[in-house]
Amino acid sequence: MARRKKIYEGKAKILYEGPEPGTIVQYFKDDATAFNAQKKDVVDGKGVLNNRLSEFFMTGLNEIGVPTHFIKRLNMREQLVKACEIVPLEVIVRNFAAGSMSQRLGIEEGTRLPRPIVEYCYKDDKLGDPLVTEEHIAAFGWASPQDMDDILSLALRVNDYLSGLMYGVGIKLVDFKIEIGRVYDGDFQRLIVADEISPDSCRLWDIETGKKLDKDVFRRDLGSLTDAYTEVATRLGVMPRKATPMEKPKLIN
Ligand code: 5GP
Repeated sequence: MARRKKIYEGKAKILYEGPEPGTIVQYFKDDATAFNAQKKDVVDGKGVLNNRLSEFFMTGLNEIGVPTHFIKRLNMREQLVKACEIVPLEVIVRNFAAGSMSQRLGIEEGTRLPRPIVEYCYKDDKLGDPLVTEEHIAAFGWASPQDMDDILSLALRVNDYLSGLMYGVGIKLVDFKIEIGRVYDGDFQRLIVADEISPDSCRLWDIETGKKLDKDVFRRDLGSLTDAYTEVATRLGVMPRKATPMEKPKLIN
């Protein structure tokens, strides 16, 4: 069997050339990294859970008219996505203070923000993804002012969608990160939500207990990451409710 061409290997995913032009196969690894890969581990089942959860969120977004790169899930660990040019920004939306915002501004974690706050970081591992302003983004040509309007609107629509979905299953969406891709239709470019949406890229807290159900469990050594992600998948109906937390993830097809 011919080997697939690997396009890129990141910390949590591998991208392969897709079967049709303009498509890519996105493979979710079990590798967990934090603090710019200074902390690393392999977490059994994480790739399977993130593949399925990202499918769930991206499918919902496509259905409500928020364009994403997602085409279809191929198997337990792989999904077919549209090839796109990634805008070199991490787009972060925050509803409650946490993580780097709490550190930077001295706001206690969990404090509700007056309104959702959108931040941009320049995607560069060597620099540790520094926070940048729209001035930097425009001056260095990473995205045009028109792109930034579209990116802000996409980010806030994703926030509304995800917040509501999570609220419905007793989870608070504290913050999340998305990445944006450019696709070209002839001479026109469109911006779409790309990469992944999963507990690796969101902060998710149980509304009742405040228990963390996201990658902070790994970053801060708070217990089993698979249990936390399984809990999110179970509440959202992505995995059967009867599965015990210690069981390996089973998918509902
Ligand atoms: P913070 O800036 O507080 O570290 O992160 C804010 C939010 O963006 C969190 O939900 C965090 O998981 C997500 N985030 C920020 N940077 C990255 C990154 O490089 N990778 C991933 N997966 N998520 C990130």
